[in-house]
Amino acid sequence: MLTRIDEFFTKQIHSCAIAGHVNPDGDCVGSVAAMYLYIRKYFPWIDVRLYLEQPKDELMFLPGLKDAIFERPKAGKTDLFITCDVSAIDRIGLAEELFGMAEHTLCVDHHVSNPHFAENNLVDAEASSCAEVLFYLMDEEKIDSEIAEALYTGIIHDSGVFQYKNTRPETLEAAASLLRKGVPFNEIIDDSFNKRTYLQNRILGYVLCGSRLYADGRIVAGSVTYSEMDRFGATKKDLDIIVSQLRLTKGVEAAVFVYQTGTEEFKVSLRSNTYLDVAAVAGRFGGGGHVRAAGCTIKGDVDSVEKAIVEAVRAGL
Ligand code: AMP
Ligand code: MN
Ligand code: MN
Repeated sequence: MLTRIDEFFTKQIHSCAIAGHVNPDGDCVGSVAAMYLYIRKYFPWIDVRLYLEQPKDELMFLPGLKDAIFERPKAGKTDLFITCDVSAIDRIGLAEELFGMAEHTLCVDHHVSNPHFAENNLVDAEASSCAEVLFYLMDEEKIDSEIAEALYTGIIHDSGVFQYKNTRPETLEAAASLLRKGVPFNEIIDDSFNKRTYLQNRILGYVLCGSRLYADGRIVAGSVTYSEMDRFGATKKDLDIIVSQLRLTKGVEAAVFVYQTGTEEFKVSLRSNTYLDVAAVAGRFGGGGHVRAAGCTIKGDVDSVEKAIVEAVRAGL
């Protein structure tokens, strides 16, 4: 049974740090922003700080982010450290050392692979998003229009605007409550989720053109190297829609997208449509995630990485 989040904010808690995961997505940023605003407004004796890797520009509108700290914090003791949308301890990133030194730790998450790495773990793997988990942990009456905007953003990003399988009746019930708080939903959906820059559209087109089918068309794979990214002026932040588009290829069960993150190092994004557990496939390479969306990092050159991950996916089909 999930505990209401308010119970953690006792008078003994004077300092609190909140952090999301590396390469923060809309759910991560929406969740940490909502958590930050909630504590700041209703538990004013707590000195609360929000640590986050710099998010994509289209998420920077979220209230609360102007106070966020985008750099590695100095080591020190915090009374309570809360992670949001963090599936494993090594995904905290910048503030990981602070997490290790905290008096109490709380993990709020929805990843099925979460190993419950904190002292207290409020993990609901059935929820669409961490923001949805938070919605049900917060006191609904305390959710003001700014907190609602942040939670709504988290939910729409991880549910693909209520399209992915992780959408459940509770997701829509949470969204309905948030709409009643006055969330400007169509601006948020278009501006933070649907719109692409010209550059992003071009690199999407490039990867789709070069994509390859395997296993009689049940796997599609695309890749991009640093030199190709340079040609378009793209960074990793311009790539996140690509695997979603690959997944929509007719006949495909699994989509694989490989992009360079270092010398001889590639990030792999995996998506499946109906039955393949991609979290298990990613797990074989030290990664994780959800049944239908997971990731891992593999060392090697682009061809060997694609071959290794496609073989692992094929073995699971
Ligand atoms: P991505 O393909 O990066 O969008 O990630 C899909 C899902 O898998 C997200 O929920 C991530 O949190 C999770 N994920 C991605 N990479 C890793 C990793 N190396 N370890 C654990 N989880 C991951
Ligand atoms: Mn996330
Ligand atoms: Mn999430």
